[in-house]
Amino acid sequence: MADAASPTAPIVAIVLSALVMTAIVAVRYLLSSGGFALATRAKRPGLYKGLNRQIGAELRWSLLSAAIYGIPAGVVAWGWQQHGWTRIYTDAGTYPLWWMPVSLFVYLFAHDTWFYWTHRLMHEPHAFRIAHAVHHASRPPTAWAAMAFHPIEAITGTVVIPVLVFLIPIHVGVLLAVLTIMTVMGVTNHMGWEIFPRALVHSRLGGGLITASHHHLHHEKYRCNYGLYFRFWDRLCGTDSGVAQPGWDR
Ligand SMILES: [Zn+2]
Ligand SMILES: [Zn+2]
Repeated sequence: MADAASPTAPIVAIVLSALVMTAIVAVRYLLSSGGFALATRAKRPGLYKGLNRQIGAELRWSLLSAAIYGIPAGVVAWGWQQHGWTRIYTDAGTYPLWWMPVSLFVYLFAHDTWFYWTHRLMHEPHAFRIAHAVHHASRPPTAWAAMAFHPIEAITGTVVIPVLVFLIPIHVGVLLAVLTIMTVMGVTNHMGWEIFPRALVHSRLGGGLITASHHHLHHEKYRCNYGLYFRFWDRLCGTDSGVAQPGWDR
């Protein structure tokens, strides 16, 4: 057993941190996807009928992704705690208060930008077959598909937040909000029905945001609607196909 003075102690601590983070991501996935799957059973009974085999595959790929997400998150969390790495801050007075909502938006927009371009690249035929076909094997996707990615795609997704925390200051509470939005939108966008009111989805504000009605068309048509949170890049690059017609989710 390594003690504090042992040269292997940091390695043991990093491995433990990665294991803890993997467990947190896996439990977060099981609770969020499980919760929305239950909501689906209540709100849209029978929507996942006959999809048990597919859901099994979605669960296996997602749990593998949890391990891939947990490793860099664990290393960064360890470095933050032990060596003050990253620009994550805990004292709300460190930066002006207005920075909190702005940093939330900056993180979401940066993640969205990275996702849009890597996602588009993964729709090139060769890359699609290797890295992205796994995600599109869900037809139609369910709440369990939120993290159903091939390991290559999971790796492209996992670097974003761990890199951003070294570059852009963020309060730890705002970071938790970013991770919560990421988790909830990842599940609800794949759930197979629209959770947001029609009035919002079809409003001016809704016109800039991605919800299930938008991402559903990506899974149906493939070569459009690549974004994650915002329709900015899709609109700018002419890849926006709008949202699915009302009633698509019945
Ligand atoms: Zn998807
Ligand atoms: Zn895709």
